[in-house]
Amino acid sequence: MNCILFDLDNTLYSPDRQLFALMDKRINSYMHEVAGIPLDQVDELRRSYWQRYGVTMQGLMRHHQVDPEDYLRYVHDIDVPSRLAPDPLLRQALQALPQRRVVFTNSSVCHSERVLQALGLSDLFEKIYDIRIAGYLPKPYPDPYRAVLDHLGTEAGDCIMVEDTPENLLTAKQFGMGTVLVGPPHAADFVDVQIDHAAQMPEAMAFWSGA
Ligand SMILES: [Mg+2]
Repeated sequence: MNCILFDLDNTLYSPDRQLFALMDKRINSYMHEVAGIPLDQVDELRRSYWQRYGVTMQGLMRHHQVDPEDYLRYVHDIDVPSRLAPDPLLRQALQALPQRRVVFTNSSVCHSERVLQALGLSDLFEKIYDIRIAGYLPKPYPDPYRAVLDHLGTEAGDCIMVEDTPENLLTAKQFGMGTVLVGPPHAADFVDVQIDHAAQMPEAMAFWSGA
């Protein structure tokens, strides 16, 4: 294993930090105030776009002519430091990993940089791959995984994907990557290792030692 791909949101920090709640509000207000969707349709449409496309933005692009760059700027305009603080334990754990480390996220580079900054991890990742990598198609679509592997110039079999969303690990496993789920146990054969916190990654790597 020579490369570890880390998801960002709810993987490098706990969902308990409720950062998503801030983005949630921004998404709802974008749909109503900018895209002009009646308030009483917002929740239902979000649910349906999420189910059909993996992210709300795809539905807004396809059905409401929303400009993805405008959307990304708007929904990530949140006060990240109000929810996140430096995580020295995670920093130490990441530094202990000899592999190449990158971020692979369905958010934006700008949001990722703010999050990494707030967590005190800015200097620990070689590259941030965001939702733009494959024409705004999100994980778990295979396209962004393929694009990231191309960019890294590495084989899926040499990579490990670290994620809080099980569906995104299914695609990673289909490519042949190793998979680590951060969060509650999820019984599925595409999850190689489950951990509670990303800081447990050095221990998780024992699964591949000798492989
Ligand atoms: Mg996530």
